[in-house]
Amino acid sequence: MVSLQKETLRIPLVSELMIPSEKVAHVQISNPLEHALLVLVKSGYSAVPVLDPSYTFQGVISKTRILEETIGIEEFEMNRLSEIMVKEVMDDQVPCLTKEQTMIDALHKLIDHPFVCVTNDKGEFDGIVTRRTILKQFSKHYHETLKYTMLETT
Ligand code: AMP
Repeated sequence: MVSLQKETLRIPLVSELMIPSEKVAHVQISNPLEHALLVLVKSGYSAVPVLDPSYTFQGVISKTRILEETIGIEEFEMNRLSEIMVKEVMDDQVPCLTKEQTMIDALHKLIDHPFVCVTNDKGEFDGIVTRRTILKQFSKHYHETLKYTMLETT
């Protein structure tokens, strides 16, 4: 019974939780903002990672940041989006994780961000960990722990 409980409570690694890079929508630093907005609207995400041509992680671009750029004096100026590049507007001060870190490391960073990017020691993009994944893990652990606790007390 005790060993079973220990197995259930093993803390997963980031590598076990992440969405791999090939399944993550992203934009390139040199893309114009109009392309980035198209990717965001089509994918339904509020923000996506920004990579350079060698797949090194550079930052995150969000719908909010893009729309801020369109605010003119009297109206939205959407035509400006073809003149501004993603690298001029993206947030490059975001935390990252490595595959070897644990769900607890991810949890701390996800308090302030809906997703966190995973990179290797060269800064190359490996994938993302999302709040949804972490919440699902916690829900699973909570229910399994509760089940074992009830079994032990009966
Ligand atoms: P979730 O916790 O699943 O709602 O995801 C949180 C955020 O992570 C989303 O709003 C997106 O910004 C980002 N995200 C999740 N999945 C992907 C994906 N496959 N590609 C790009 N970004 C994603």
